[in-house]
Amino acid sequence: MSAPTLLADLHTAHDWLAERGILPPEQRSETLPTPYVRFPDGRSVVSFCSNNYLGLNHRTEVKAAAVAALREHSHATSESRRLGGNLALLERLESDLAAFKNRPACMITATGLLANIAAVHGVLDASGLASRWHGSPRAAGIPAVIYDEHSHRSIRMGARQSSAERVRFRHNDADHLDRLLAARSGRPLLVVTEGVFSMDGDLADLPPLLDVCEGHGAALLLDDAHGTGVYGTDGAGTPSHLGVAGRVPLQVATLSKALGGMGGAVLGDERVIAMLRTFSSGYRFTSSLPPEQAAAAIAALIIVQTEPELRDTLWGNIRHFRAGLSHMGLHPMGDGPIVPLRLGTSQLAAKAEAMLIDAGYWCVAVAPPAVPPDSCRIRITVSAMHTKDHVDGLLNAISEVTAAIPELRRMNQ
Ligand code: PMP
Repeated sequence: MSAPTLLADLHTAHDWLAERGILPPEQRSETLPTPYVRFPDGRSVVSFCSNNYLGLNHRTEVKAAAVAALREHSHATSESRRLGGNLALLERLESDLAAFKNRPACMITATGLLANIAAVHGVLDASGLASRWHGSPRAAGIPAVIYDEHSHRSIRMGARQSSAERVRFRHNDADHLDRLLAARSGRPLLVVTEGVFSMDGDLADLPPLLDVCEGHGAALLLDDAHGTGVYGTDGAGTPSHLGVAGRVPLQVATLSKALGGMGGAVLGDERVIAMLRTFSSGYRFTSSLPPEQAAAAIAALIIVQTEPELRDTLWGNIRHFRAGLSHMGLHPMGDGPIVPLRLGTSQLAAKAEAMLIDAGYWCVAVAPPAVPPDSCRIRITVSAMHTKDHVDGLLNAISEVTAAIPELRRMNQ
């Protein structure tokens, strides 16, 4: 019997991509980065592809907290928050995160992707849903969500799930945003951007974006997945780093990057968060964060706040790496731990990844749909787990790849 048409189409697309080397298998590792990882063939390489910027998942206190919670509560809540899954530990994590981010309230979700979906669609749809289900006063006007064109897929998913008009503004372009907001004056408006862009590593230009939002009465939602724990002298993220902490009304954070765990968080005022808990499907209709993850995040948050020297180590490594690249004539975007080196095609990016693995360094290749087809790259992430020797070793390996693949120099000058 032949496959149903839909699946046959997938098979055809699969074979076409596979023949061109566009569907490489995911590289398997037997261990998690310390920063060393062991591959199944026994090779040990230094990983430069973890978002675990501070190495907190290897800290004894964090693991001990997770194990204690696992012993006390088991490994999962098996329910959503409202239907029995509201373990006290989860509320404790929410109040710790709210205090850390200096926001009135916090709602955690099982992943960062769900936090963005819950935040974006919830903020846009909750009052309409309240009116439909409970007869509360109708909000005036159809909402619009205007998001940076480089926004993470989860932001787009939230926008798409909502009933709002969806519009993109040019990357970090406050003038373009201004015009788009002016054309929608008087309507409920949400603007979404990222603190640190996940693929390019550059920062949102928050001060002018906030000026524009405030001028039009639009709410700004900032996905600070990669800023949290990394930027700001207090580690509270890009708003703190850019001196606008009190002006960002809505934030998303992930527990999966500098906090070294799993889960997401939405931060805002109490009434907004209460509405999201009731009406956001990314929160309401899925099981809550497992107890051991909550306990680990609580322990990790303490370290983030009490050991600023970890951030000093991270930033020392970042500066050393970026200075070494610049010395070689390579000038990747951003100023932080996410360092993209563009190669163009996915085949060239895969070739660079393979060469670096052979040299003992794992820097993962990124291809569509994560980045545009002509902008495939290796995405390097520096962490506090690395030493100067690791960074120097990677710089040497990159210089060899640059000699073998001229596009690397051409695309990163
Ligand atoms: N936002 C951004 C900017 C991200 O890069 C990611 C994941 N890489 C997420 C949200 C989703 O986070 P999580 O992996 O915790 O689901």
